[in-house]
Amino acid sequence: MAHLSLRNVGKTYAGGNQPAVCGINIEIADGEFIVLVGPSGCGKSTLLRMVAGLETTTDGEIRIGERVVNTLDPAERDIAMVFQNYALYPHMTVRDNMAYGLKNRGASKATITERVNEASRMLELGPYLDRKPRALSGGQRQRVAMGRAIVRQPAAFLFDEPLSNLDAKLRVSMRMEIRKLQKRLGTTSLYVTHDQLEAMTLADRLVVLNQGKIEQIGAPLEIYRKP
Ligand code: ADP
Ligand code: ADP
Repeated sequence: MAHLSLRNVGKTYAGGNQPAVCGINIEIADGEFIVLVGPSGCGKSTLLRMVAGLETTTDGEIRIGERVVNTLDPAERDIAMVFQNYALYPHMTVRDNMAYGLKNRGASKATITERVNEASRMLELGPYLDRKPRALSGGQRQRVAMGRAIVRQPAAFLFDEPLSNLDAKLRVSMRMEIRKLQKRLGTTSLYVTHDQLEAMTLADRLVVLNQGKIEQIGAPLEIYRKP
């Protein structure tokens, strides 16, 4: 657990004539849940991907706790990301999908077993541990993706529209589940969505982006009360 700071962060893509994102300052407190919203093309995923290390930062600094991370490889950042398309390994079981990141980082067998079991209890995945992703529903796949993030016990979670491939009913129940899990674990989170209701339900604070800049930042009711 740690706070996450974005200081004057900007990105100009190679060949881009204007920055996709520019002058972003956000201080995310330890355990806080921040949701990024804004119209398509405003820079949400660019910003999230810079924090993850999937995109280089062309300006500014990103810190987790006191560590500057924007110069580090993704694997060194102590961040776990949950993707819209789940990004599960199709040939691996649910158990192996969850264990993979830990195994890669050299965790002991005992630690892996303990954490995978704990995550599968939290996410009610116990009955599915030996199945492959194709034998799961969309909601179950997204739970596995959450499990894979949880077992790492990272300093921060990043969510890239994780519920947008699910039907409306499941979106609502998964959203409550994510909210509860995040509060229980107390892991600092940055979540991107274009769904306003989802944003309002999940966020401690919302960041509204427009054309690569922060237009508003505040508690959901502060923002949506304004005309
Ligand atoms: P959002 O996630 O809010 O839809 P993006 O971060 O995807 O916004 O895009 C922000 C801006 O950066 C857009 O103008 C988009 O066209 C541009 N952009 C995104 N990815 C690339 C890329 N790989 N190369 C060049 N421009 C890009
Ligand atoms: P970890 O070891 O953190 O569990 P993975 O082995 O699952 O990570 O994936 C390695 C890296 O590949 C991720 O940290 C991410 O940078 C990238 N990645 C995985 N899936 C996707 C995806 N669907 N879209 C974009 N990048 C991805």
